[in-house]
Amino acid sequence: MKKIIIAIDGLSSCGKSTMAKQLAKNIEYIYVDTGAMYRAITLYSIQNNLISKGEIINKLELQKALPNISVNFKLNNHSLSPETYLNGINVERKIRSMEVSNNVSHIAKLDFVREEMVRQQQAMGVEKGIVMDGRDIGTTVFPNAELKFFIQASAEVRAKRRYDELVHKKMKADYEEILKNLTERDEIDKNRSISPLRPAKDAIILDNSNLTIEEQDLFLLKKFNEKIASLS
Ligand code: C5P
Repeated sequence: MKKIIIAIDGLSSCGKSTMAKQLAKNIEYIYVDTGAMYRAITLYSIQNNLISKGEIINKLELQKALPNISVNFKLNNHSLSPETYLNGINVERKIRSMEVSNNVSHIAKLDFVREEMVRQQQAMGVEKGIVMDGRDIGTTVFPNAELKFFIQASAEVRAKRRYDELVHKKMKADYEEILKNLTERDEIDKNRSISPLRPAKDAIILDNSNLTIEEQDLFLLKKFNEKIASLS
């Protein structure tokens, strides 16, 4: 069967990763969480005192260090989910902390960071058969992706989902802080000069505020099957 590229973009914490991961599993495609890549670079910056409270302290050092920062994914044999590694160390849990969430959009708006991440993401998609989620996948990374989704939901629904997820993982969670972080990140992501967050012209818009996970999975699968049928 012909393999395609599927881009899933959208607002923060609207369940993109969950649905992208499930779709990839259902259709036996590779799943790539590009947010995790920006989060890992942010964690590196925090650990090396290059950023603090959204203020980038040392851009030059980060730019110099970037070629030596390796971010990759390995499958967890128990959960069967990919986990993020920073320079060989599993950082899957650390990159989801509020400290990283509060700084990541400041790192993600740097031109040299985006250039490098986009280059690596494009390399991952050369053989197609990939589901990639992020903010600029359908607009910048793969503007010719055969299937594009843009996911949105109300800020309150997204904050509640994120809160439940952190509680489930036994991580620190405060609903008001999460809501503030989501709205701030969306604002920075929408207003940055390089690859701002916006739907690609040919993206299918899905508001999943009132959908169950099963309903949204079925929706994506239906669109995928329709696309494949139209190509054959
Ligand atoms: O998807 P996630 O919420 O983990 O992404 C974290 C942050 O990384 C986003 O708020 C955004 O600033 C940045 N990001 C980006 N481009 C992507 C993916 C994520 O700028 N393709």
